[in-house]
Amino acid sequence: MCGIFGYIGTKTNAPEMIFKGLQTLEYRGYDSWGIAILNSNQKLQRQRQTGKIDKKQLKLSGGTIGIGHTRWATHGGVFEKNAHPHLDCNEEIAVLHNGIIENYQELKEELLKKGHHFTSDTDTEVVPHLLEEYVKHSPIKNAVKKTFQRLRGLSALVILYQRTKEIFVVKNGSPIVIGKGQDEYFIASDAVGILPYTNTLLFLNDHELAILGENSLVLEHIDTDKHIKEYFETVSWQQSHVTKGNYKHFMLKEIAEQPQVIRTIAKTQKELIEKQAPRIEHAFGTFFIGSGTASYACLAGTYLFSKIAHIHVNMAPASEFMYLEDFLTPDSLIIPLSQSGETIDIVEPLTRAKKKGSKILAIVNTLGSTIYRLADQTILLQAGPEKAVASTKAYTAKIAVLTYLAYAIAKDSQTGQKKLLESAQEIQRLLKPNTTKTLRSIAKKIARHEHVYLIGRGMSYATALEGALKIKEVSYIHAEGLAGGEIKHGPIALIDKGTPCIVIAPQDETHAAILSNAMELKSRGGYIIGISPKNSPIFDEWIQVKDTGIPLITQVIPLQLLGYFLSLQRGVADPDKPRNLAKSVTVK
Ligand code: GLU
Repeated sequence: MCGIFGYIGTKTNAPEMIFKGLQTLEYRGYDSWGIAILNSNQKLQRQRQTGKIDKKQLKLSGGTIGIGHTRWATHGGVFEKNAHPHLDCNEEIAVLHNGIIENYQELKEELLKKGHHFTSDTDTEVVPHLLEEYVKHSPIKNAVKKTFQRLRGLSALVILYQRTKEIFVVKNGSPIVIGKGQDEYFIASDAVGILPYTNTLLFLNDHELAILGENSLVLEHIDTDKHIKEYFETVSWQQSHVTKGNYKHFMLKEIAEQPQVIRTIAKTQKELIEKQAPRIEHAFGTFFIGSGTASYACLAGTYLFSKIAHIHVNMAPASEFMYLEDFLTPDSLIIPLSQSGETIDIVEPLTRAKKKGSKILAIVNTLGSTIYRLADQTILLQAGPEKAVASTKAYTAKIAVLTYLAYAIAKDSQTGQKKLLESAQEIQRLLKPNTTKTLRSIAKKIARHEHVYLIGRGMSYATALEGALKIKEVSYIHAEGLAGGEIKHGPIALIDKGTPCIVIAPQDETHAAILSNAMELKSRGGYIIGISPKNSPIFDEWIQVKDTGIPLITQVIPLQLLGYFLSLQRGVADPDKPRNLAKSVTVK
């Protein structure tokens, strides 16, 4: 959720580097930011601010050690006093925190009784005061361990201690990456922040303590005190994916990258996919789980597997799967789908499933992420970092992988590959001005409406749900995706004169029935926008999407674009960072 960036080394511009690091991690979502450094007199100096991060605001300068944070508030309002880092009473210990401390109230009471002075409403502030308490009687390393052991909930902590000029990092659940450069170390909540400096990364495990000094790194287990050998690895990710290039927003850039993403999957993943297919065939119960957009990819997957592979697969929103796990056995197979690989709603049920001996085949985009490391087997989406909060290319990449898998199970991955390449070509066509002009004009017409309904049947039902999510995320219009057959069971009561209704009507088994549903909406005044290979007199607007390739992949493209154009029409400040949302959701 929050962004973390830290530096310790020989460069003397730590504040500027931390600032740049935080900007790179901005896409994770935040409401305030702050940095603490050791200045040239080796004294702790802090700057905190609410709102957007802007270079002009940076007041700190100089220093070779420092830590920074972008906050996504969970406890305490968006005020400067609640921004991280938080300090102890003596202002010698600075703490950044990602996550939630569930027992902070009882800890705070205990510390208040001992005379500690609190200056924020956050849960986090108990940490520097607990450290201050423990460090009175034990070395700082032990104080960090004792403090961490008292916290309940899932957290990552980064601590800067003035006296020893060290940074301490420890985590439980939330992600932390440490990068190794020339006589220097970097700390970040996401590898993307470190990639401009080094590709040598260490993905810290839960309950491990990293102690970073000038040119030294020591790893220890929090509970056993055992020394752990460094386990850096070299990743092949490139920095180039991280800039906007000539695009106004990351969202538009990522939409445009989709043909390339699908082609890469088609051309490079065949063998890996064929290797994984038997695992699904032999599993006794397979479950797709995902959150948000990924949960719609899961739903789409159930249709794809039924149609192509003739296999029944279950799906559940990841946050609900926790409550459905009683029946899991060592023969069950869980297939988590995730962009970030960090979503706590997925990490938690996976950890529990693992304890029951179930197997995990992860489909994730982020190398080295928690889910990547939890899984027995992984298929990487290879979509490149996705920075816009609203997911686009990671969604189509997931559908591409699931389709490929379904064809591999049906012993026909050749057809899967062909269909993926055709889809890439059709997306390329949909990105051309012909279609985008129509979508811009539709966005202009419907931008002032408060409600939009999307309907589909069969696989297109998943598209209706995902299209609705895209529209609501970036334009703040209430959009609802529905199964075409369901509208008459209630939602049709909401249709009024001029209500925009988007109808997804591929020329498959659903065509006739979905057009009947479109007619039902039109008869109640609905303004019908058809997404179909063929025009129909029922449509007031028509966006042609050919049935070549995999319609599930291609139909969603106009909906992603429509969401983006609606966002611009409604003057949303930044479509890449919708209000209240964060890219990597590491709290419950
Ligand atoms: N719970 C902490 C707070 O509200 C940390 C939030 C975060 O992860 O950004 O300040």
